[in-house]
Amino acid sequence: MNRRIFRDDGAQTRRGDVDREPARVWALAAEALETPLCILNSEGTLVAHNLAWRELHLQSGGSPGFVHEGSNYVDACERMGARPIVGSTENATFRSIVGEILGGRRGELFLELASHDGDGPRWLRVRAAPLRGVHGMLVLDHAPAAPREARDARSRDQDELLRRLAAEVPSVMYQVEMNEGVRRFRYVSPAVEDLFEVSAEAVYADADALWNQVLEMDRSRSFHALAAASPGDARELDFRVRTPSGIEKWIHSIARPHVDERGHTTWIGVLSDVTARRHAEQRLAESEETYRTLFETVAQGVVYQDLEGRITAANPSALRILGLSLDQLQGRTSIDPRWRAIREDGSDLPGHEHPAMVALRTGVPVHDVVMGICRPDESRVWILVNAMPIHHEGKLARVYASFEDITERVELAKELRRQATTDFTTGLANRRSFMERLQQEHERVRRHPQVASTVASLDLDHFKQINDTSGHSAGDAVLQHFAAVVKHEIRGADFFARTGGEEFSLLLPETTPEQALALADRLRRALEERPARHAGNELAVRVSIGLARVDPADATTDELLARADLALYEAKHAGRDCVRYRPR
Ligand code: GH3
Ligand code: MG
Ligand code: MG
Repeated sequence: MNRRIFRDDGAQTRRGDVDREPARVWALAAEALETPLCILNSEGTLVAHNLAWRELHLQSGGSPGFVHEGSNYVDACERMGARPIVGSTENATFRSIVGEILGGRRGELFLELASHDGDGPRWLRVRAAPLRGVHGMLVLDHAPAAPREARDARSRDQDELLRRLAAEVPSVMYQVEMNEGVRRFRYVSPAVEDLFEVSAEAVYADADALWNQVLEMDRSRSFHALAAASPGDARELDFRVRTPSGIEKWIHSIARPHVDERGHTTWIGVLSDVTARRHAEQRLAESEETYRTLFETVAQGVVYQDLEGRITAANPSALRILGLSLDQLQGRTSIDPRWRAIREDGSDLPGHEHPAMVALRTGVPVHDVVMGICRPDESRVWILVNAMPIHHEGKLARVYASFEDITERVELAKELRRQATTDFTTGLANRRSFMERLQQEHERVRRHPQVASTVASLDLDHFKQINDTSGHSAGDAVLQHFAAVVKHEIRGADFFARTGGEEFSLLLPETTPEQALALADRLRRALEERPARHAGNELAVRVSIGLARVDPADATTDELLARADLALYEAKHAGRDCVRYRPR
């Protein structure tokens, strides 16, 4: 055998030099290769082969004449039981696939065939691909392969595994070939039936059975996304379909394109039903939208504080109520000294006792705390605060504080309280608040019997005459004058009240009856020195005073007040404008 000269067959000779020449050039180059190669024309006739192929052919027990006769290789292979080993083309024949390759509809084909030598069949794996640059010719390379039975068993196992997996997975797995805008499914898993209500067969027959379900509005988006993909990139994409029974579903697609040497793209991917997830996302988006609108427009102030108590978000109402800008508010903590918060009773509310801080510390909500806050413009705003700890994955994450402006309500309540406890004419405490204060003092004295406190009953002398001679408004002016004079003489701790028409009471804590007598005399003298004035006239005011000790032995405040009144009665009887003390 001539090992250096590549041979061609007679059939090819008949076709003329034009067809044969490139094959000859290729064959010369291939002659030295170790891979067994041969070339077929479009009818399957052996056109050229290299030395390695001829040796393989002979070793396999092939007739030496075969290589000369221009015989049809495809026919010969089919006779020998060659079959394609492309998974999705089980029913295709060697011949039909060769036709597809030559027609440019398929890149390559693997087939296996047994050739017989003395020891039984030898398995070959044959790859058929178009001969590049030569129209209508195929190049076949051959490689030894494992015995078919062993491979069959293995691939049967793998097929079975794949089949079971495909049946288990609710998603649709597929392989689709794209060729000049034409889609052809090469594999689609059985889940397609559940997800898209079409059979796998229908999809193999016509890829549009799926494509047509994609909603119009999502089509171009889907198509562009796929078209823009570069090889090897996995593309993810959500789109909507309407199934034949009219159900709209959200489909998540993840697919990876593989491009063969002819530029044909095969997509391998998975389609999953994500309707539930999309709907949940949509509901979440809607509730977030609702929440945002609420946050922005609600009249209540809302702030979020992180675990350190720093304000991370505040709504417009919060800024308005607190009189601060977002910049001033953000990042501020409850313990910021600029807050100057007070309780309803006027006492300081330290930062760590702010409702938000308490909620952060305890992890439980804090409700309806009234806080007074000093605005930067020095005005006072009263807010009613609720603080709600927010947990994330079981752990405290932040706190949500909402508050409303209750300044008007607090001021009104304060005014009502003031009116309820104050005498309108003199501005002094009224009888009710005097009795409360006396009660407190009596209790304190009973707890600490060594404390000496004194109570005084005061009654203006001949007050009726002032009314009668100078008029009621003169009487009022005298009452006011008297209140002012007394207030001027007493200490801050003393409690002075108008307890009747022209009757007053004075509580003198930490004051012995002797000290009280001295004060009472001082009062009388002050009145003598400072007459009241009304309508340009001076009006002399005189007062009678009765004193009694706030005694721990008294059962009730009425008892000790009765003693003071008795002392006052004695002072009146003694001629008025004097002081009497009534011991127990
Ligand atoms: P006495 O020295 O005994 O206390 O004589 P008095 O005139 O002060 O006592 P009396 O109880 O007779 O009169 C008290 C008067 O005080 C009667 C009442 O009209 C007058 N009065 C009570 N409340 C007011 C008030 O708010 N304004 C004025 N102008 N007079 C009042
Ligand atoms: Mg009186
Ligand atoms: Mg009087």
